[in-house]
Amino acid sequence: MKVKCPVCKKETEWQGNPLRPFCSERCKIKDLGGWASGEHFIKGEKVEEEDEEKKPTLH
Ligand SMILES: [Zn+2]
Repeated sequence: MKVKCPVCKKETEWQGNPLRPFCSERCKIKDLGGWASGEHFIKGEKVEEEDEEKKPTLH
């Protein structure tokens, strides 16, 4: 079963996902904090883009 992340609208797996209905901890924190941007994300944490999975790193 898939649900759409309420923050970024990305489809994410429901089963076995501890962060549901969010796709990631970042979205969960965003939603809970009501933040519109990632600028206030936990200091020191690297803010990554949604499409991080398939970035070609050939060089
Ligand atoms: Zn999300």
